[in-house]
Parts: sequence; C-alpha cells; structure tokens
Amino acid sequence: MTIQPNHLPTAELQAIDAAHHLHPFTDTKALNAKGARVIVRAEGVHLWDSDGNRILDAMSGLWCTNIGYGREELAEVAADQMRRLPYYNTFFQTTHPPVLALAERLAELAPGDLNHAFFCGSGSEANDTNLRLVRHYWASQGKPGKTVVIARKNGYHGSTVGAASLGGMKPMHAQGGLPIPGIRHIDQPYWYGEGGDESPEAFGLARARALEAAIEEIGEDKVAAFIAEPVQGAGGVIIPPDTYWPEIQRICDAHEILLIADEVISGFGRLGTWFGSQYYGIRPDLMTLAKGLSSGYLPIGAVMVSDRVAGGLIEDGGEFFHGYTYSGHPVACAVALENLRILEEEGVVERVREDVAPYLAERWRELGDHPLVGEARIVGMMGALELTPDKASRARFAAEEGTVGLRCRERCFANGLVMRHVRDSMIIAPPLVISHGGIDRLIELARKSLDDTLAGLRADGLMVAA
Ligand SMILES: *Cc1c(COP(=O)(O)O)cnc(C)c1O
Repeated sequence: MTIQPNHLPTAELQAIDAAHHLHPFTDTKALNAKGARVIVRAEGVHLWDSDGNRILDAMSGLWCTNIGYGREELAEVAADQMRRLPYYNTFFQTTHPPVLALAERLAELAPGDLNHAFFCGSGSEANDTNLRLVRHYWASQGKPGKTVVIARKNGYHGSTVGAASLGGMKPMHAQGGLPIPGIRHIDQPYWYGEGGDESPEAFGLARARALEAAIEEIGEDKVAAFIAEPVQGAGGVIIPPDTYWPEIQRICDAHEILLIADEVISGFGRLGTWFGSQYYGIRPDLMTLAKGLSSGYLPIGAVMVSDRVAGGLIEDGGEFFHGYTYSGHPVACAVALENLRILEEEGVVERVREDVAPYLAERWRELGDHPLVGEARIVGMMGALELTPDKASRARFAAEEGTVGLRCRERCFANGLVMRHVRDSMIIAPPLVISHGGIDRLIELARKSLDDTLAGLRADGLMVAA
C-alpha cells in the first residue's frame, strides 16, 4: 500500500476500505454493500471525489473547516513546527512556545474572564475534562457533594464515555450502558418539533425553567454544572427561542452552579461573533472548544476556564490527575494560532456578521416556500430545513423517521452538494468564507435536491403524514 493510493480505481479503493476500515457512526454492512464515497482533495468550499466530481461542501467537513480548504499558510506553519519541535508533552513542568502563545491568544479572544486554557485532542476529550474538572473544583471548594451535571436531551457533546453521557442522544445511550451516573437530562428548546401551540417565546421560557426545576429537585448542593450548546448542532440545528438563554443565565446566577457552554461548533465565527456566548449574551464559567479552533486542519480541543474556577483549583485543588499525551500538541497549537491569525487579519468574523450570514439567511429562507419544507430556520452560518408531508400542521412522515432525510441527502450528493440529514431535517454549516456566488449555487442545488426528493416521494407514495 502506497501512502497516497489515489491512482487506484474507485472500486479498488472502496474494496480496501470495506475490508479494513470501520467508519464512525456508520452501519458498516449497509455501507459496504454500496461502497464509500472517496474524497481525494479539496479547495476553498469544494471537495473532489475519486471520480473527479466536484461537490460543494455546505457542512464545512464536520462543522469545522471555517476558513475553507487549501490554505497554504497552515501547511507551511505545520511543516515548520514539525521540523522545529514536532512533539513534546506539557506534563512534567514543561511548556513550549506554541502552546503558551495559543493559551494567551484564546484568553484574549474568549469573553469575560475565561483566561485559562486546558488543551485536549478533541471536543469529546474537552467535555470529559469538563466533567472531571467541575467535580474536582467543587470538591476543592469543600463541596464534594456537588457532582451532578445537568445536560439536555438531544444535545451532542462527543462520543467518549463521558461526553456521550453528557450528550442526550438516545441511540448512543442505548449502546454500551450509557449514560454514566450523575448526569441528568432535561428537555430541549426545540420549538418546531415540540412546541405545539405555544408561542416560541413562551416555549423557550418553559424549557429554560426546566433547568430550575431540575436543580430544585436534585438539590442545589448536589448540582455541579449545566452544560449546553448555544445552538444544538448535531441535534438538528435547534435554534433556541430568544427567551431561552437569558432565562438560563438568570437561573445559573440565582443558583450556585457552573455554566458550561459547549462552543465546539458555535466558536470561531459561526454565528458572526467569535463565540456563541457573545451572540446570546451569556457568561459561561467554562467553554468547550474544538473543530473551528484549527479549522479542522489538525485535531485539537480546549476547555477555557474562568479566573474564579481556575483560581479556586490552583489555590485549593493540588494536582489535577488528568491530561492527555497530546494536550497542547505543538504542531496542532501552531496551526490553530495561524488559523486564528487568518480569521482575525482577514476580518472573517465581521464579514460573516455584516455580509455573509445575512445574505445566506435571506437566500436560505426562500427555501421555506418549497412544498416539502415546513420551516427554514437559520442563525449565523447554521441552517436547517424541516421536511414535512404537510406544511400547515408541521406533520411528520408516516415512513420511519430519517427515511426522507436520507433520501434527500442522497439527492444532494448526486447533485454535487453536501447537506447532512438529522432525522427528517436537512442541515448546513458552510465554510465562513463562502462567497455570494457560492451561496447562490448552494441554494440552487438545495432547491433542485428538494425537487428531486419530492418527485421521488410522490412516485413512491411517501408524501404521507404519520
Ligand atoms: C463535534 C462536537 C463535539 C465533539 O468533538 P469531537 O472532536 O468529535 O470529539 C462536542 N460538542 C459539540 C457541540 C460538537 O459539535
């Protein structure tokens, strides 16, 4: 096997993949029956597969290639850092220039007094860090009983045992005996799916107050923290009503619990602010980072910790028995720093706020008039289309949940567009650097894919409400 077997025919690449590669979040039997799509290169907002097809990547890989593909500067910085110091650990009272520079830069960028960074290799590892860190923090403050973390149904916080337990994904919990003890899940602020006849505002308040009810039921002396994504990503781009976050912040202020904002998707410009916490005006005590931190060019995650929490830990916590071989990996840190430099010097975040996101929103909402679309919602550079057999009633399909979404995703791929499906909704999170022309193309391909999906559903008698 050569390092880059690009010259092999697609069928041969697929056969090797099927024989030896177990994919994440995949039904391998179903995949192997048809063969994996082989992506061989990327540039800007486009991917190319092994048959030479160009595909518009409206998901930024997995919500991560914020600055787009093919930035030479990141490759240069990585090569340079690999030659200088490819690896050293940060365990035994050692540090190195890339890690301390990145920690300082993140402290400058992060809101409030989130001035301390703990590095990891991924978002999952960062959330496992959160779980251990908040419990250790409260123990160090003489409150070892404060251990429960409240999270949300249909939240996504990663796939390690701790992170998957914090997440509220039922299919994940059903495999392997999750969640671990000490985690409580409350209902999500998903108005389209669960709001019924309530106004979004009233529904948002009610769902926020579920946090207060849970704290009171469990006992404030037993609750360590609440963790949530500013906007649920993998759960289906669930944008909370405007009333939700202010009420959550009020509840966190009124009770002695820590607020953890999982900013793995909403960080680094996706909402037109550096962090989603700024967009929603919340003041987290801890913040989870990954994905856009390096624009996905190398794996890296981090937890940002407030002065108060870090101060307590430093003063009273002794040694924190936690860390990863790749905590603060020098090459990943150098690449993340370069990514942040590009985001800042090219004004990417402001451009998203003032130009790209408003244009995308205007065009995305046009899809709301399509007969298959019950709602076209969007915030910043994250959008969802709820597919429905009956717009007026927001009905679900009679077919098994996800059937229609999967069909639509297949149509998108065939038309040269990556949109992901979550149940029977379609979601996008394009690179922040997409042009107006790119957005026009995205909408054109999305509409064509919706048309194709609708025609197929009609032909197969699937435009039927549950
Ligand atoms: C992707 C994601 C994670 C997990 O990150 P990994 O790098 O895949 O471990 C955690 N939280 C959120 C909100 C995510 O979207």
